[in-house]
Amino acid sequence: MYLIENFGSNVFNDSVMKNALPKEVYASLRRTIDRGAPFDPAIASTVANAMKDFAVSKGATHFTHWFQPLTGLTAEKHDSFLTPSGDRAILQLSGRDLIVGEPDASSFPSGGTRATSAARGYTAWDPTSPAFVKEGTLYIPTVFVSYTGETLDKKAPLLKSMTALDTQAKRLLRLFGIECGKVSTTVGPEQEYFLIDEKVYNAREDLILTGRTLFGARATRGQELEDYYFSSLKTRIAAYMHDLDETLWSYGVFAKTKHNEVAPAQHELAPIFTTTNIAVDQNQLTMEIMKKVAKKHGLVCLLHEKPFEGINGSGKHNNWSLSTDTGLNLLDPGEDPERDPRFLLILSCVIAAVDTYQGILRASVASAGNDHRLGADEAPPAIVSVYLGDQLGALVESIVKGGAYVPKKPVPGSIGVPSSPIFPIDTTDRNRTSPFAFTGNKFELRMLGSSASVADPNIVLNTIVAQAFSEAVDALAGAKDFGLACREYTEKLLKEHSRIIFNFNGYGPDWEKEAARRGLLNLKTTAEAALEFFKRENIAVFVRQGVYSEKEVVARANIMLENYIKTVSIEARTMLKMARRQIFPAVNGYLEELLEVIERKRAVNENLPLDADMVVAEKLSAQNEALMRAAEKLEGDLLSLPEGTKNAARAVSDVIIADMATLRVLADAMEPLCSSAHWPLPTYNEILYSVR
Ligand code: ADP
Ligand code: MG
Repeated sequence: MYLIENFGSNVFNDSVMKNALPKEVYASLRRTIDRGAPFDPAIASTVANAMKDFAVSKGATHFTHWFQPLTGLTAEKHDSFLTPSGDRAILQLSGRDLIVGEPDASSFPSGGTRATSAARGYTAWDPTSPAFVKEGTLYIPTVFVSYTGETLDKKAPLLKSMTALDTQAKRLLRLFGIECGKVSTTVGPEQEYFLIDEKVYNAREDLILTGRTLFGARATRGQELEDYYFSSLKTRIAAYMHDLDETLWSYGVFAKTKHNEVAPAQHELAPIFTTTNIAVDQNQLTMEIMKKVAKKHGLVCLLHEKPFEGINGSGKHNNWSLSTDTGLNLLDPGEDPERDPRFLLILSCVIAAVDTYQGILRASVASAGNDHRLGADEAPPAIVSVYLGDQLGALVESIVKGGAYVPKKPVPGSIGVPSSPIFPIDTTDRNRTSPFAFTGNKFELRMLGSSASVADPNIVLNTIVAQAFSEAVDALAGAKDFGLACREYTEKLLKEHSRIIFNFNGYGPDWEKEAARRGLLNLKTTAEAALEFFKRENIAVFVRQGVYSEKEVVARANIMLENYIKTVSIEARTMLKMARRQIFPAVNGYLEELLEVIERKRAVNENLPLDADMVVAEKLSAQNEALMRAAEKLEGDLLSLPEGTKNAARAVSDVIIADMATLRVLADAMEPLCSSAHWPLPTYNEILYSVR
């Protein structure tokens, strides 16, 4: 039975801090956490000591600065608490050890912001995200910067973007006479994943090296029966999820919802939302723990965006909102949004920001893995648009077109069974096809890939909305008639940016055409999307909001392109190896058997029918030949990638990916013809139905 007292038991959280720290120290630290007041170095050693005592009481012997370099993963380097004291050892964590670390930065991507010889990098404690104990080590969340002050991670810019938004949102609220200490963004990331048995995983080099299957004919049973979504959990999966929940709870992660997803072997976990930087840390921790707990259950958790062809891939939904420390959700439309100029202005600013900076919002979720999903009618299209739902959609339309607005109020609903309770029916329906959908009192950015760091799109969202707020304040501050000026400004924003609003089906070719007519971007690959970060106006918004310097934006775009090229190249090389060393010889082995049969049949009796043997043998010989030719072509193209990151990325998306597709089609066509005794890889049926 789960003991609720165990929730957060591994976290150095508020109540632990309050108990362990002297009153003034606690108050000073809270001011830093809650209000962003500068950290007082005088309290560092007291806090460090309390953290160490807590960690030791949980069995820890080591501590690590935990950071998020530009690989998109987390990094850690463990030091023990052991300190010599005479001929004995004592356990110690100094104030300095808590506040700064000096990991060698030279082996992390920097996108050219730092010469390899200048290896110094610093990690600095982020007191706003709680430290925790995991597997005998105290984890201290940190940001990671270079000797010259450039950020080398995803955390520092995220915190800067949150500060920018806080500053601008408070300015905007002040126009409406609202004072508050802090405006925070909140995020609840819903996480999709696959679980397969470790036996089939271990038998596939592609899964091991790239996280996805590079070959594999479609399963004979996919998701066509639509019988898997929300279906009852298999015992082994239920045991995994239970274990996962309990582990996550011990780290203070509010894992709330779990269910089977659309594709066979696919599942989802949703936590309760929290402040963005904590949500980012917790999502990284969640992904890591999902994999570790799977191992304990003889399973492998796949977080790749497209592990299998022919069935849905996995994404992540970034539920995003803004709230004040006084408990006001700035995206809550309330009862009468039409009579709430503050809500309408904020909504218009978000819409304007998403339209103006649609390119970088799209680019923030681009990766080799996610390119397989966006626009493939299983996830939102690669075109950014905003869905407002019926109620707000009608309201905004009435403002843009000048017509009357008839409020659509929630009506009491009943499911039509006499004894069932009456409940209010939502005024917005769900629209699964929209990349950025208003859902009640938050926006849901649905374009993220399942393995992505949640930091990237939130850095962009916070920055562009901060920019829109600051422009609004500049335009409205000092207006003689504020009410009128605000109404006019809101109307102007909505009129200028209404092209980004799309309340209908985002799948399919019709919307692509319509979006092109509206002049919206449709950036289908990472190679195209990343270029958005090099554009003047896009760099400018980061610089203006103090989130990135120009050098930092360009560095990140370069890393993104390099990562894309490297990821696809690894996939291509793995395909070559599997095609030549596994598939080609296996098919030849089966051919040999077939030819032997043909020869023997002929020897025994000239009249024995041979048609079937001959047809299969002919098909397989021809396809196996073609397979090797396709492999030659892929290898040649890989070796002749052009110079320069942008050109190489373009060649990868135009040439290498097409070569890989050709190679795959040939192998996948042979799989159903080849005997199962010879086929060298577990099939889709075997993988997707491996957990029983
Ligand atoms: P749905 O199931 O309709 O997508 P839910 O209400 O279940 O929506 O919420 C989905 C996710 O959105 C959850 O992680 C939830 O915690 C999160 N969420 C709810 N309100 C907010 C908010 N104000 N800010 C950020 N995330 C939120
Ligand atoms: Mg959702």
